[in-house]
Amino acid sequence: MPKGEKVSGYSQKYTTKWERDDELKDWIGPDPSGKIDQAYCKYCRTSLKCHRKGLIDHSKTNKPQNCVLKEKSALKTKKLYSTFKPIVTEKTKIAELKIAAFIAEHCFLKTIDHMIDMLPQLDPLSDNLSKFKLHRTKCTILIKNVIGMYAARAN
Ligand SMILES: [Zn+2]
Repeated sequence: MPKGEKVSGYSQKYTTKWERDDELKDWIGPDPSGKIDQAYCKYCRTSLKCHRKGLIDHSKTNKPQNCVLKEKSALKTKKLYSTFKPIVTEKTKIAELKIAAFIAEHCFLKTIDHMIDMLPQLDPLSDNLSKFKLHRTKCTILIKNVIGMYAARAN
């Protein structure tokens, strides 16, 4: 195309101006395959003709709006790690393992429930003592699957 030639609406090139256009900026981008006469809808993931009116029409169809809504609800959805925060620190894990090992060696498994419930009472101000979540079920699993496995491998 000769330089300076006036382009009609239908053979327009993509312009970054649209990325600052209130009606387009939320979803528009350059065509990922590099076609200069195409714009890209980030929400629909489709390439569109570079015609501003057509692009605005596109933004008014339900398609991108649905996509925007989906995108927004996806953003609102809690990330898995914020729902299941790993609250057990390495220190607590090691302490729990030591307690489990102690129980396995010296006590009845039944005593663990009592002992863990009692720990926070020893020092109500201690954050660490109240962090233990080690009752019979978990203690059994630790003894069997962690300590037991380790002991079996060491032999
Ligand atoms: Zn779209």
